[in-house]
Amino acid sequence: MHGAGGSLMHSLIKEHVIKMLRPYKSFDVPLTLLEDSGVCNDIVFTTDSYTVKPLFFNGGDIGRLAVSGTVNDIAVTGGKPLALSLSLVLEEGFPLDDLDRILTSINLTCREADVDIITGDTKVVERGSLDKMIINTSGIGTRNPLLDRNLEYVNRGSRWLLASNIRAGDKIILSGSIADHGMAILSAREGYSFVSNIASDVRPLNRLIDRALEVGGVVCMKDPTRGGIADLLNEWAEKSHLGITIYEESIPIRDDVKVAASFLGLDPLEIGNEGKVCMAVVPDMVDEVLDAIRELDEGKDACIIGEVTDEFDVVAMKTIVGGTRIIGRPAGDPVPRIC
Ligand code: MG
Repeated sequence: MHGAGGSLMHSLIKEHVIKMLRPYKSFDVPLTLLEDSGVCNDIVFTTDSYTVKPLFFNGGDIGRLAVSGTVNDIAVTGGKPLALSLSLVLEEGFPLDDLDRILTSINLTCREADVDIITGDTKVVERGSLDKMIINTSGIGTRNPLLDRNLEYVNRGSRWLLASNIRAGDKIILSGSIADHGMAILSAREGYSFVSNIASDVRPLNRLIDRALEVGGVVCMKDPTRGGIADLLNEWAEKSHLGITIYEESIPIRDDVKVAASFLGLDPLEIGNEGKVCMAVVPDMVDEVLDAIRELDEGKDACIIGEVTDEFDVVAMKTIVGGTRIIGRPAGDPVPRIC
């Protein structure tokens, strides 16, 4: 659970990693902000290790995940993804056919995201010391040329897309249906026949993000991966010291995902996604941003799911039956090892 994206992971990071790693220099976006990327001299830089189990699943594989996840973390901070590193840690005996399949998928996803692998490393460890393979991808991006124009509509002081930019009145856009990735992984792992049609949403989002920045007015963005939109919205509320109201009826979710999650006792709000983005947008621009991203296949189901308020400082959901439910920060993603 300490690696599953929720409150336990955040306390591990704050009480150990951040506490022990004291910064010597100052940067535009330092580690202490715990954003998806750091920024140093206008270079957006991020890293991620992938341990998904199984390696292949409906809609993707660990290779597509490793490229998409890193590209998306650069893009949501305001970077234009440029180049990645690829570090492979393989268990002794790993089938070379599987390795080639994963590398092919990495190559295709890089082309889709308009990035290249320009450096890397390979290690092999003894059988039994690792579950098949771990991939680490780090990535760099330059400052997105669309960012300055986007920020002209924002006026919050910051040169980057940070959670601390969020203000009361901002609207929250979600780019499509939730929980598809987590349910696809669960189905591949457990062999549940009732979720066998659910495919992971894993994909690079930099094209969709560019489309939104072209319009302008995006205050902050983040991809709701481990811990789902419940974790993301709580992080935004915490960092901005504001409240967020969401509307259950406007949250896109596939019927089969909803049924499967309820059957398994899982909350779709807490389940991870790998091809979706949440955006906080200034109210004047939100309809235009929404129209622009809906023109793309990966944004066709996008909608406004809520807004930021200064009346309280938690995440509250107006339910379909007319009640209000507080959405707490999940302890971790209910489906472990999804990325
Ligand atoms: Mg992220």
